[in-house]
Amino acid sequence: MKRDPVAFLKEEMKDLRNKNLEWIIRYLEEGSKPHSVVDGKKVLMLNTNNYLGLASHPKVIQAAIDATRKYGAGAGAVPVIAGSFDLTKIFQEKFAKFKEVEASLLCQTGYAVNSGLIPMLVGKPDIVVSDELNHGSIIDGVRLSGAKRIIYKHRDTSDLENQLKEAEKERARRICIITDGVFSMDGDIAPLGDIAKVAEEFGAMIFVDDCHGEGVLGNGRGIVAHFNLQGKVHIEGGSMSKGFGVFGGTVAGSKDLIEFCANKSRTYLLSTAHPPGVVAACIASIEVVETEPEHVKRVWDHTNYFKKEVQNMGYNTGNSETPIIPLIIGDPGKAQELARVLFEEENIYGTPIVFPMVAKELSRIRVQMNALLTKDDLNTALSAIEKIGKKLKII
Ligand SMILES: *Cc1c(COP(=O)(O)O)cnc(C)c1O
Repeated sequence: MKRDPVAFLKEEMKDLRNKNLEWIIRYLEEGSKPHSVVDGKKVLMLNTNNYLGLASHPKVIQAAIDATRKYGAGAGAVPVIAGSFDLTKIFQEKFAKFKEVEASLLCQTGYAVNSGLIPMLVGKPDIVVSDELNHGSIIDGVRLSGAKRIIYKHRDTSDLENQLKEAEKERARRICIITDGVFSMDGDIAPLGDIAKVAEEFGAMIFVDDCHGEGVLGNGRGIVAHFNLQGKVHIEGGSMSKGFGVFGGTVAGSKDLIEFCANKSRTYLLSTAHPPGVVAACIASIEVVETEPEHVKRVWDHTNYFKKEVQNMGYNTGNSETPIIPLIIGDPGKAQELARVLFEEENIYGTPIVFPMVAKELSRIRVQMNALLTKDDLNTALSAIEKIGKKLKII
């Protein structure tokens, strides 16, 4: 009998299901906002990165419409060939000012920044010193680079220092310290001030991935502004797809860095530029953060209230310091069950986070705050989370 060359597809999915590790994809029938319709059901969404609610901000939507009318739907080329618009230039100048750096580059996505730029910054003769909980896109970028990877304990600068001492002995050409700014699964913050001090001592470059810090920390300007480290961090990667509510990746830093990235990052060179409507929406979104500080304030007010309440109920929120509030359950099956019951019985949409996003025994529901939530919404969510948590004997 001939063997079926793709039988593994079904078998591997069956295995994931048996281990409670399958991702269920749900479909939104309205925009990404706290009150949306998901799989035909009106729900309260607690699981988007759209912290400031800018995905549905009228000025951001209008900018996308106007630019689409003027420039059309697609970019037609990669940025270096013919895909950069005057809008792209405006965005990059505005974003550089906003981040208080010399220059910036709008890239395809945050993932593309990490997978395209990291392998150009470091290669075989180099060493990357990486926080153990860094985002998967950083891990992929480092793998592609072929550089030696040394892991330091999560947010532990004395371990970082020890690892750098080890790295120094190897006489690498370059040493690069890489960290998430805000850790996406736990909502804790990298000690960037201490990292910068250690980096300086060892002559290492610093790459911080600020995807979840932007729009949230430092009045929306991100982790570097939060710690007043302007000029001390060599490379900032980011995303327009989270706090800014639109789409795209960013690199911020010196003019030299931006020219280097635009000429060498393979994802930048080989992947089509954003549609003009997206670029215009990105510009508008930065303008909203600059001129309407109430969104950042609201997301923090909600964060402080919600976190205190779930902690009082007995939930373990780990070391969360930001609007990312994990309810750490442990067992993946139980985390999936809590999410399922909340969705089906309480119309609350919170996503279970399981392996490979987090270690199996740290399975969780990750709750994320949003400026568009109301106090009533928070209270509705809190009483459901308490009721079902008790029912399932989680709290
Ligand atoms: C979300 C995220 C990314 C990917 O950003 P996209 O723009 O969605 O591709 C990269 N790094 C971190 C830390 C993230 O949280």
